Amino acid sequence: MHSAAMTDPFGRDITYLRVSVTDRCDFRCTYCMAENMTFLPKKDLLSLEELDRLTTVFIEKGVRKLRLTGGEPLVRKNIMHLVRQISRHLDSGALDELTLTTNGSQLARFADELAACGVRRINVSIDTLDPDKFRQITRWGDLSRVMTGLDAAQRAGMSVKLNAVALKGFNDAEIPHLMRWAHGRGMDLTVIETMPMGEIDADRTDQYLPLSRLRADLERDFTLTDIPFRTGGPARYVEVAETGGRLGFITPMTHNFCESCNRVRLTCTGTLYMCLGQEDAADLRAPLRASEGNELVSSAIDEAISRKPKGHDFIIDRRTKRPSVSRHMSVTGG
Ligand code: SAM
Ligand code: SF4
Repeated sequence: MHSAAMTDPFGRDITYLRVSVTDRCDFRCTYCMAENMTFLPKKDLLSLEELDRLTTVFIEKGVRKLRLTGGEPLVRKNIMHLVRQISRHLDSGALDELTLTTNGSQLARFADELAACGVRRINVSIDTLDPDKFRQITRWGDLSRVMTGLDAAQRAGMSVKLNAVALKGFNDAEIPHLMRWAHGRGMDLTVIETMPMGEIDADRTDQYLPLSRLRADLERDFTLTDIPFRTGGPARYVEVAETGGRLGFITPMTHNFCESCNRVRLTCTGTLYMCLGQEDAADLRAPLRASEGNELVSSAIDEAISRKPKGHDFIIDRRTKRPSVSRHMSVTGG
């Protein structure tokens, strides 16, 4: 519709919106959250109606792809109401794709309805196939429930991509197994470098594994060929000759993927982050609530996009051990 309506100062068209519909989660992955998290007060959240209104403004301004994330998007009360609302933009052709990133714990319940609403692809995060290690990394997650969810998603006809955060000394040795397993089930796998976002209870310098090293290790046993395949996100893909599947690498730390960034991120309180790795943000809740029309919020979005930075510069500071971005990944949703 308005394909060039949102163009940032570096000429990048903003066509991809990620919406964190809640900062809450039923897991506490050790790289993502502290065990005792303070979540946002419920009164600060945008209602589902407000989220619908705001995402609709973005779609009218040129967003073609929308991803719901969190926190865990499927634990937000009545989330399917929002999914149903947004799906009307798929029907009208204004939106090309509606997707979801989930930990899979609630998928068994929602897979059929998601598919019926036009969700064709989902990302499910699984860092290990060992139930004990899974419980350890998520602090209390039940792998068998996630597996049931995966089955349900595939049965419902959605294509599933697995996300795994590569953690030194935890799952690095298991990645070949995870990859074979995923590819055997017709799922792509994307590995992600840990990003220094938010205080957690662990030391991030202990967790960090550069994917260049993981790739070199994999290349001892597998033939990896770079391919131009893209899903609109930051992953760079290789094809694995031995499995016939695709493996993606998300390397915010070792390789800056910002040149082609087409994304902005909205939190559940209506804060717009123009970059995952920067603190600068714009409040859209106030202009949204200030008037029934969308002019104010539309200009606030334009103003925010005009401040989208060129890129991020994540560092894990070895001396202070402080995260380089203080908010948790669960606020902006990765
Ligand atoms: N709860 C959902 C899930 O886990 O898929 C969606 C939100 S989660 C924040 C989105 C993705 O970010 C997950 O794949 C998760 O593994 C990843 N993630 C969380 N914290 C991270 C960190 N510090 N560095 C890199 N990836 C992280
Ligand atoms: Fe929850 Fe996802 Fe963060 Fe794990 S990575 S704690 S599942 S939001």
